[in-house]
Amino acid sequence: MGPVLNGLVKLQSVENRLRAAKAKLARCRRNVIIRENQVRNLQNALEAKKEEIQLSKVQSDRLELELKSRDEQVARLRASLNAAKTNKEYAAVLTQLNTTKADNSKIETQILELLKATEADESESESIKNQIDQQKQELERTRKESEQMAAKYQAEIEEIQTEWDEVALTIPPESLDVFKRVAETYDGEALAVIEKQQGKTDVYSCGGCFMGITAESVNLLMTRDDIIRCPNCTRILVLDGTQYTAER
Ligand SMILES: [Zn+2]
Repeated sequence: MGPVLNGLVKLQSVENRLRAAKAKLARCRRNVIIRENQVRNLQNALEAKKEEIQLSKVQSDRLELELKSRDEQVARLRASLNAAKTNKEYAAVLTQLNTTKADNSKIETQILELLKATEADESESESIKNQIDQQKQELERTRKESEQMAAKYQAEIEEIQTEWDEVALTIPPESLDVFKRVAETYDGEALAVIEKQQGKTDVYSCGGCFMGITAESVNLLMTRDDIIRCPNCTRILVLDGTQYTAER
């Protein structure tokens, strides 16, 4: 390995720091989005409760109206009962009267249940409103915190980027292109260190994908400064400095 491969090793270490800083920035922005979504979900839940309350009210108004007309019917039936001329007629009107009264009591029960449901919905609405207030405060706090952190991470990223550019200048353009392409494929991990299998001589594997690497490739890396890529995963192969110093 010579200046090109050593340069790539250095670039990889800067690339790792750059990606880590970018990930931290993305994470701190994501925290704000998560909180925004929480507030939005609660607002949607509140809207849904309001609609339910409105629906119950419409239904209850309709039942009240029906009850009123049925109460009038009961009054009319009572009058008919009093005016009945025969036992048969009396019995018929009485049956009708009892049926109507039974139906009315069912409607009254329905109205009462709707009222109870509305009360429950209203108390839930209150609790959701409180949660919204709380979450909004949390959101503001997170937003402020995140803005501060983001500024810090951005400065860090710019600094590392400058370093990256400086190291990149020391690397031939075609090698740099290979590095960038492989880095894109493997989430920043363009290089793979060749690993020597313990207890065995001349048995090597790629530290990225763990497939075998020929001793010939290792020899080439030790004697030359050319990019050799893993035949399986295409990462740029490098030697671990500490492992091979003695042999160089
Ligand atoms: Zn590999």
